[in-house]
Amino acid sequence: MPRNASLFERACQTIPGGVNSPVRAFRSVGGVPRFVKRAQGPYIWDAEDHRYIDYVGSWGPAILGHAHPDIVRVVQETAVNGLSFGAPTEGEIEIAEAIAARIPSIEKVRLVSSGTEATMSAIRLARGVTGRPKIVKFEGCYHGHADSLLVKAGSGMLTFGNPTSAGVPPEFIQHTLVLDYNRLEAVEAAFKEFGSEIACIIVEPIAGNMNLVKPVPGFLEGLRRLCTEYGALLIFDEVMTGFRAGPQGVQGLAGVAPDITTLAKVIGGGMPVGAFGGRADIMEHIAPLGPVYQAGTLSGNPVAVAAGLATLRLLSEEGFYDRLSAQTAKLAHGLAERARAAKVPFSADSVGGMFGIYFREGVPTTFEEVSESDVERFKKFFHAMLIRGVYLAPSAFEAGFVSSTHDDAVIQATLDAAEEAFAAL
Ligand SMILES: *Cc1c(COP(=O)(O)O)cnc(C)c1O
Repeated sequence: MPRNASLFERACQTIPGGVNSPVRAFRSVGGVPRFVKRAQGPYIWDAEDHRYIDYVGSWGPAILGHAHPDIVRVVQETAVNGLSFGAPTEGEIEIAEAIAARIPSIEKVRLVSSGTEATMSAIRLARGVTGRPKIVKFEGCYHGHADSLLVKAGSGMLTFGNPTSAGVPPEFIQHTLVLDYNRLEAVEAAFKEFGSEIACIIVEPIAGNMNLVKPVPGFLEGLRRLCTEYGALLIFDEVMTGFRAGPQGVQGLAGVAPDITTLAKVIGGGMPVGAFGGRADIMEHIAPLGPVYQAGTLSGNPVAVAAGLATLRLLSEEGFYDRLSAQTAKLAHGLAERARAAKVPFSADSVGGMFGIYFREGVPTTFEEVSESDVERFKKFFHAMLIRGVYLAPSAFEAGFVSSTHDDAVIQATLDAAEEAFAAL
């Protein structure tokens, strides 16, 4: 049996579904997941020594490409001094200062170990600060797997949602209002009805968990206005977009300042780091200063923080995001061009080092439109690219990621593969 298949079979004996995060199992595209043996720059190698150009990038963190020598060195140098202390370190101050210096809406920041922890803590903080129970989220936005966020829209516009996972009692999500992304009227209606009970809106300011969906003009500004008017807090979940869409995340691109920002992925440089931060008067509600409890044994882990800090420093190089955006746009345009030549209904979009590909005409702006993508076509395209050495996200509803090591030759090789793959559809 080929090695990927035999490893998968073995994994399934002791790991549920053979994976430690469900999308890795290839369920939505079919076939055998590739077990990664090593990675370097824009490439990953599987257990059978096949090389792939990687557009998953660990789902976002690998913005400098895999195994960047400076990051690897700093990890090694930090590790020899001990892996974890459960006491404060200077590195934590440095990364907090680096984050606050780069993102103007963040005055104070608390480190955690994942995006899920960041959003869960941010919501507790918003509820603690406002003394209100309800939260607003949008269909198709993912904010990690905390109970109150695993919820999809109910039947009516202003009904509370239904759990998207077994094990989440309806009572746990009774305060979560799920609305349509990019439909400000619905948010206005929700605030009219429940305004005095809403603690916060949590939103991916560019949605990257229903493929890639950008906010329509006025949407983020409208959320800001409503939160201010009703005394609710605006949380931008920039776990994916932070230091990925641009040097100050989406808030820098849009010119809209949230009250709280959540970060992870890029800020860990491939190690487990998350963070949530915002105005000092809000952040000072957290223990030990305030009544909102939040803690973590490995929070601010010295090795992870060192990797994150080294990453942030490299991202500050002059012109980094201009180059990254240009490469990503080149890929998106090139894919759309080749699909057009093959007469495949397709569109593509990008921002910073993120891109979306959609098997439909036109770039979608709503969850409903994204859902109209031709999933069967995507599956065929995914496998046609995979056998040609290009590793795309194994789902039609995930964003793609480009790193600074995806140079012209790598993009061209991808487009050459795509030309054949589209023709094969
Ligand atoms: C990935 C992601 C999360 C969850 O982060 P984990 O580190 O996987 O817990 C939360 N929000 C957004 C926007 C994400 O993309």
